[in-house]
Amino acid sequence: MAQQQQQQSQAAGGAKPMRVQHRVVLLGESAVGKSSLVMRFSRNEFNQYNESTIGAAYVSKDVALDGGCTAQLQIWDTAGQERYKSLAPMYYRGAGGAVVVYDITQAASFGRARAWVAELQRQNEGKTVIALVGNKLDLAAKRTVSREEGAAYAAEAGLLFYETSAQSGQGVQQVFEELSRKIPLPAPEPPA
Ligand code: GDP
Ligand code: MG
Repeated sequence: MAQQQQQQSQAAGGAKPMRVQHRVVLLGESAVGKSSLVMRFSRNEFNQYNESTIGAAYVSKDVALDGGCTAQLQIWDTAGQERYKSLAPMYYRGAGGAVVVYDITQAASFGRARAWVAELQRQNEGKTVIALVGNKLDLAAKRTVSREEGAAYAAEAGLLFYETSAQSGQGVQQVFEELSRKIPLPAPEPPA
């Protein structure tokens, strides 16, 4: 009962700030920079020689939302290799948010990203907020996917869209912060 009262007063903008948990999954072809984006966001580091992910890796980080609320992001970084593909639904099913990554210098990875978006939207019935991310913006001289192409697809599919560099850090915080704010907050508990 005491707990319910507390939750009600939080929902009504009471003194105690609300704290929510959002599960966010990273998807995309191997080597597009999923793990590097997570490392840049969570620790503000970049390692050119980081090892490829086996299965999936988990990182947690808090993000401030509007109105003094805090979201604990539970980030699942998946492996892009085909042999782990069947595991992906375990991580994305019911996820509040997804970051689908491609490499702007690899057109094939953009095709793969679109396939992930289609799978997510079908399996999660449009309930997952999706950010499409064209990574390796520092290699823009070698780009094979234009910003317009990425943005047009994102607009058509109803996705947030960003171009980032995990190497320089450009745009990385914005992806996770804006995505967190778009994920619906849980409904307050009904009165007892
Ligand atoms: P993942 O397989 O999608 O997790 O990709 P990784 O994060 O392991 O990155 C694959 C390779 O791309 C690594 O050698 C990274 O150092 C490199 N990489 C990742 N992000 C960037 C970036 O923004 N710019 C550049 N130049 N290289 C990157
Ligand atoms: Mg990885």
